[in-house]
Amino acid sequence: MRQAIELAKTGMLAGNGGPFGCVIVKDGKVVGQGSNLVLKTKDPTAHAEVVAIRDACKTLDHFQLEGCEVYTSCEPCPMCLGAIFWARPAKVFFACTKEDAAEAGFDDEFIYQEIEVKPENRRIPMVSLMREESLKAFELWKEKGDKDLY
Ligand SMILES: [Zn+2]
Repeated sequence: MRQAIELAKTGMLAGNGGPFGCVIVKDGKVVGQGSNLVLKTKDPTAHAEVVAIRDACKTLDHFQLEGCEVYTSCEPCPMCLGAIFWARPAKVFFACTKEDAAEAGFDDEFIYQEIEVKPENRRIPMVSLMREESLKAFELWKEKGDKDLY
């Protein structure tokens, strides 16, 4: 966790993004790490956890983080929470809380609220289009024999 906090500070001071860092450990060894790179890479999804998950998956050459522990300097935002569930590590440790982040100007409470709102009523309206045509991709997936389930 100390390393994650250090990444939060150094990444932010270097102008890479917000003060967030993340380290991923497997069997006592660091397999991935990252700091927030939103400003440096002009990528709104480059949160420390996502950067670290990508790094760890590359190291482990796998799309899941089975048996891994995630150490993040702050409680994950909804996007990172989703990414963590998709990556399936064993456990997550966080230092600061989302309330601490909100206090520093990183308030993600509205995203939790938006999840509850009907798609078409969200602040960014989300509208279903061409569902029947798109269902064909799912049909092909269901029929596909040689697939990696995840
Ligand atoms: Zn995040």
